[in-house]
Amino acid sequence: MFYLLKCFIQMKTLLNNIDLNEALFGNSNIGFVPTMGSLHDGHISLIKKSLKLSNKTIVSIFVNPKQFNKKQDYKKYPRNIKKDLKILKKLKVDYVYLPKIKDIYKAKNKIKIKLNKQDKILCAKYRKGHFEGVIEVMTRLTKIVNPSKIFMGEKDLQQLLLVKRFVEKNFKSKIICCKIIRDKNKLALSSRNILLNKDNLNKAGKIAKNLIIFKKKLFKKKNLKDSIFKKKNELKKKYNIKIDYLELRDKKNLKLTNKIKNAKIFIAYHINKVRLIDNL
Ligand code: AMP
Repeated sequence: MFYLLKCFIQMKTLLNNIDLNEALFGNSNIGFVPTMGSLHDGHISLIKKSLKLSNKTIVSIFVNPKQFNKKQDYKKYPRNIKKDLKILKKLKVDYVYLPKIKDIYKAKNKIKIKLNKQDKILCAKYRKGHFEGVIEVMTRLTKIVNPSKIFMGEKDLQQLLLVKRFVEKNFKSKIICCKIIRDKNKLALSSRNILLNKDNLNKAGKIAKNLIIFKKKLFKKKNLKDSIFKKKNELKKKYNIKIDYLELRDKKNLKLTNKIKNAKIFIAYHINKVRLIDNL
């Protein structure tokens, strides 16, 4: 009966905060999936989890200018709103929130985010101001939407852990961690993959596979630091890529580690001017 009813209820598109407040009023157990659009199966897995665990699911699509440390990157970020809305309707999402910049940033209260020295690692080191922008937008979105749960992907593990720390400290909302979705070549899905041609997509898949096999073999290695250093040079040469970092870190506190237990390999690299990240 509930399922039948759900089939007839249309997804509501919320174009501003007045629409949003009206629609969400009186609802409890709201699941929120914040995205920048150009939706793929990674996003879809988060949405499905929210639909399962929440009374109402709201997906936001907002390409947040504050988290781009390069203007050109913001400009060329893939946007695909028509296709996105089709996907969300098909999934029977309750609400899609499409805020304008002023809906997010008009609130007068200034939010000053400062990362600790220990946080300035991995992408925080290579994309100055990026996570400050992410945490600010997530703080503002959480205040506006006031969800019970926020669904985020492990694909961006550093982002997830930072947002979890800031948001759960200041709000009642809980961050729900969702696993990485990969394509058939093991490449982690990302909206940026659209910017790659077929050859580079193949290359990126090979890099992911290479690292998955490498991680399995790391168990047997004595000097992990040295093995990772060698792997970084090998990947650079073999695939002609620029690597920002290739590091083994604890998956909970992101500290550098020499033990494979509870650790992940973190990589960020540039392939034909497109920056990809992964953790394996
Ligand atoms: P984005 O639209 O790139 O800002 O991503 C929105 C959310 O989807 C973030 O929580 C991401 O971590 C998550 N996400 C992106 N790609 C994947 C993926 N391949 N698997 C799982 N989650 C993902």
